[in-house]
Amino acid sequence: MIEDKTPQRTSIAQLGEFGLIDHLTKNFEINQASTLTGIGDDAAVLDFKDKKTVISTDLLIEGVHFDLAYMPLRHLGYKAVVVNISDICAMNAKATQILVSIAVSNRFPLEALEELFDGITLAANEYKVDVIGGDTTSSQKGMIISITVIGEAEENEIVYRNGAGQTDLLVVTGDLGAAYMGLQVLEREKQVFQVNPNSQPDLDVYTYLIERQLKPEARKDVRTLLHALEIKPTAMIDISDGLSSEIMHICKQSKVGCNLYEDKLPLDPQFMNVCEEFDLDATTVAINGGEDYELLFTIKMEDFEKIKGNPNFTIIGHMTQESEGIHLVTRANTRIPLKARGWNALSEE
Ligand code: ADP
Ligand code: MG
Repeated sequence: MIEDKTPQRTSIAQLGEFGLIDHLTKNFEINQASTLTGIGDDAAVLDFKDKKTVISTDLLIEGVHFDLAYMPLRHLGYKAVVVNISDICAMNAKATQILVSIAVSNRFPLEALEELFDGITLAANEYKVDVIGGDTTSSQKGMIISITVIGEAEENEIVYRNGAGQTDLLVVTGDLGAAYMGLQVLEREKQVFQVNPNSQPDLDVYTYLIERQLKPEARKDVRTLLHALEIKPTAMIDISDGLSSEIMHICKQSKVGCNLYEDKLPLDPQFMNVCEEFDLDATTVAINGGEDYELLFTIKMEDFEKIKGNPNFTIIGHMTQESEGIHLVTRANTRIPLKARGWNALSEE
């Protein structure tokens, strides 16, 4: 979706590859001390001094990971950066630089790419990461975006997936499932629009859910919050595929089991209302819906007092011996084995 309704459509072929790169990258600023050289040479040059470097990359393909029918390009650019930064947050590190590679067909005018890069610039400014390079090439049909993110941390700060202990508490930030329900609302509106292009959707009651889907944020604040509380998680992961799937990753890599409590799941009221409207079970969606980009982590039991009642965090369960397995404890106090179905599993039911 190209948000700018002006009819201007400048062909990217007109600019040529280098003209296009210059045009799209001219506004990026360098702010991190670790960036010695950014865009413009054959490679960027970084210096993290005595810190460790943390790196991650994500590939987004039109029609697979995003649908331009309801995803404005500005939001796509923003989200592509944010989902990468979220992975660095999940290592308890600080994101410092990104590289942005795109492949586009000539179906996209320059104005569309400007919108995409406006979103990228907004996220880069918001998260204080330098855009230090990338690649620009053509594709036959759709759009492909690959972002690589680099971050820094002291060696002893880094949190892996494999450190959870058998008696640790399981903690999550924010609330769950809203991004998935936002996607359901958008999919429904797309279908309504296809039948009646003149329909004017009233999306006011879905604002929070749609925002969670179209403009997610990475929890860069959690690193600071935990530092202030003098808590170092024993294991951590970000929620991209869904709570259930992420719990299984921590359990498998840490060789522990888990009891997750249904009545502890943090759910937004708007999320619960819309689950009811769509006739979906809120717990099922909260556990399996993905793309919340909240952080899931384990802490030692003795850190309970430090985190208790903190509005940023919800204790949703505890780890167990591996042999006890991974279960959801329902409100009715029955134990159901958790399955990792991933974020798109719900639509397959
Ligand atoms: P090379 O031919 O050496 O790969 P390019 O001509 O592809 O160099 O890129 C020129 C400069 O612009 C490089 O610094 C590269 O990292 C940067 N760059 C190219 N495409 C992008 C992009 N989409 N976003 C950010 N930087 C880019
Ligand atoms: Mg190149």
